[in-house]
Amino acid sequence: MATDTVNIKITKVEKSKIDQVDFDNLPFGKFFSDHMFEMDYVDGKWQEPTIVPFGNLSLHPATSAIHYGQSIFEGMKAQKGADGQVLVFRPDMNAKRFNESAKRMSMQPVPEEIFLEGLKQLLDIDREWISDKEGLSLYIRPFMFATDDYVGIRPSEKYKFLIITSPVGAYYSEPVRVKIETKYTRAAEGGVGQAKTAGNYAASLYPAALAQKEGYRQLIWTDAKTHTYIEEAGTMNIIFVIDNKVITPAESTDTILKGITKRSVLEIAQDWGYEIEERKVTVEEVISAIKEGRLQDAFGAGTAATIAHISAIGYDGVDYELPAIETRELSNKIKDYITEYKTGKLEDKFNWLMKF
Ligand SMILES: *Cc1c(COP(=O)(O)O)cnc(C)c1O
Repeated sequence: MATDTVNIKITKVEKSKIDQVDFDNLPFGKFFSDHMFEMDYVDGKWQEPTIVPFGNLSLHPATSAIHYGQSIFEGMKAQKGADGQVLVFRPDMNAKRFNESAKRMSMQPVPEEIFLEGLKQLLDIDREWISDKEGLSLYIRPFMFATDDYVGIRPSEKYKFLIITSPVGAYYSEPVRVKIETKYTRAAEGGVGQAKTAGNYAASLYPAALAQKEGYRQLIWTDAKTHTYIEEAGTMNIIFVIDNKVITPAESTDTILKGITKRSVLEIAQDWGYEIEERKVTVEEVISAIKEGRLQDAFGAGTAATIAHISAIGYDGVDYELPAIETRELSNKIKDYITEYKTGKLEDKFNWLMKF
C-alpha cells in the first residue's frame, strides 16, 4: 500500500468533547468523535483529502442525493488491543466493496489507498475515542453521496466522501425471532441488493415494522420472484448448520450483500474442518430440517452484532422454535473466536487486522 503518496490536510479541534461522553452508557450511533474525514469530487477529480473537526454540512436544497438516492455507505469497527494498538478488521474488504457499490450506483470510485489511509489517520487522531474497555468499540461509517445542485436525473458530477466515527457499547445480541417474508422484497435480480446503498434500507423499514407488530425482531428475506429461496436476515447474512454442514445462500444471484463477517465465518469454519455449502437454500429445506431435528444452528452475521442467534422462525403462520442456544456449537464458538480475534487476543493467522 503506497500510503506515503496520500497527503491529508489536517485541521484539529481546539478542544476535545470526549469529556461529555459516558463510555459506560453508550447508546448506538448517537455520539461522534472529534474529527471526520472529508473529500470532494469536483471538476472531474478528487480534491485534497482533509481531516476536519466533526460538524454539520451545509447543503443546497437540490443536492441530488436527497432527491434520487445516489448514496452509499460502509460499516466497520475499530477496537483497541491490550497493548494500546488500534485494530481494524479487514478494512481493505470494505474499501473494495465500497467501490463496487459506487460502480453500481454510477458514482465515482474512491481510490482504495485514500480510503484506507484516510481511515487510519482519522483513527490515529481520535485514538482516545477507542476505549479499551471490554466490548466497547468505535463504529466507523464511511459514506459518499451525490452533491450536484440539480434536479434533473443523471449521474451527479460532484460527490462528497466522508468518514465519521461513533463510540459504541457492547452489542448485546439477544437471540432473535425472525419471520420469513413472502410478500415484500429486499432485492431483485438485476437490482441493487448487492450495493450498500441508502434506499435499500429505507425500503426495508415498512415490512420490518409490520413484522415487529407481529412480535418478530427481524425478517428473513426471500427471493423476489418465487419467495421460496432464503436470502438474508434483516441487514445480516444468514448461516445455517444442517446435518453438520454449514449452509448459506450463495452471493452469485446479486441480491445478497457480500458480507465480510459471513465471509470470515466461512473461512474460519472451513479452517476448523467444517463442510461448507454456498448455494441456493430453500425455505422448504430449512423448515423440514427444523421439523426433523436436523437443523443444529441458525444465525445472522454482520459487523454490528458479529453473530446474532436465531431462536425461532415464523413461516406461514407457524412459529418454529430452534434448538437451545447453549447447544449451538458453531455459532457460540465462532462468536467468541471472532470477538477475540478483533481485539487482538489471538494470533492474526489470516492476516486480517490493520494495526497501528
Ligand atoms: C452490511 C450488510 C451485511 C453485513 O455485512 P458485514 O460486512 O458483515 O458487516 C449483510 N447484509 C446487508 C443487507 C448489509 O447491508
